[in-house]
Amino acid sequence: MLLGHFGVGFGAKSVAPKVSIGTLILAVLFVDLLWPTLLILGIEHVKIAPGITTVTPLDFVSYPFSHSLLMVCIWGILFGVGYWLFRKNTKAAIILGLCVVSHWVLDLIVHRPDLPLFPGASPELGFGLWNSLIGTLFVEFLFFGIGIALYLNTTKAKNRVGKYTFWGLATFLTIIYFGNVFGPTPSDTESIAWVGHLQWLFVGWGYWIDRNRTMK
Ligand SMILES: [Zn+2]
Repeated sequence: MLLGHFGVGFGAKSVAPKVSIGTLILAVLFVDLLWPTLLILGIEHVKIAPGITTVTPLDFVSYPFSHSLLMVCIWGILFGVGYWLFRKNTKAAIILGLCVVSHWVLDLIVHRPDLPLFPGASPELGFGLWNSLIGTLFVEFLFFGIGIALYLNTTKAKNRVGKYTFWGLATFLTIIYFGNVFGPTPSDTESIAWVGHLQWLFVGWGYWIDRNRTMK
C-alpha cells in the first residue's frame, strides 16, 4: 500500500487543519520509514519472491517492530505524545496517533497473512488483496482520490508554489506507484532498504506544500 496511506494523510487535514501535511505524511508513513532502517540493521527481514502475490514480489519474512499491530499502536501513542509535547493540541495529537495506526489497517487489506499482532509467536493476518491487480488499484486510488478531494476542500494554494507542489507530489506518487507495480522486480533486498529511505523526501515535500497553502 502506498497511495492509500497518502490518501489518509491528505484526508486527515480536514479534521486536523492545524497540523502540517508534512507531519500527517510522516504519521501515515511512520512505520514504513522505520522499516528500511530496521532492514539495514538486520533486525527485520524481507525476501524477493517473484509471483508471491500478483502485485508485489516482496515476501515480508519478519517485521515485528515496524509492522505488528501492538508495536504500531505503541508507535502511534509515542507519535501522538511527541506531538502533544511540542504543540499541546490534544485533538491533533490523537488524530496523528490514529494516522500512524491507520497504516496497519490499510496494509491489512492488501498484504498476504504476514502482519503479526505482536512480536514473537503471533498469528499473522492479511486479506491478500495484492493477489488482485484490479482490486489493489481500486482500493489504492479510492483512498488516494478521497484524500485528495478532502484536502482540496480544506485548503487552497496561497501562490503558484502551493498549487504546483501539491499536484507535483500527487503526480509523482502516481508515477512511482505504477513503477512499483508494473516496473522491474527489485534486484536485491539492500536496494529495497536504501530506496525505502527516499520516502523521507515526501515528508519534506509535505512541509514545502503546507507553507504555500492555507485553509479555505
Ligand atoms: Zn507498511
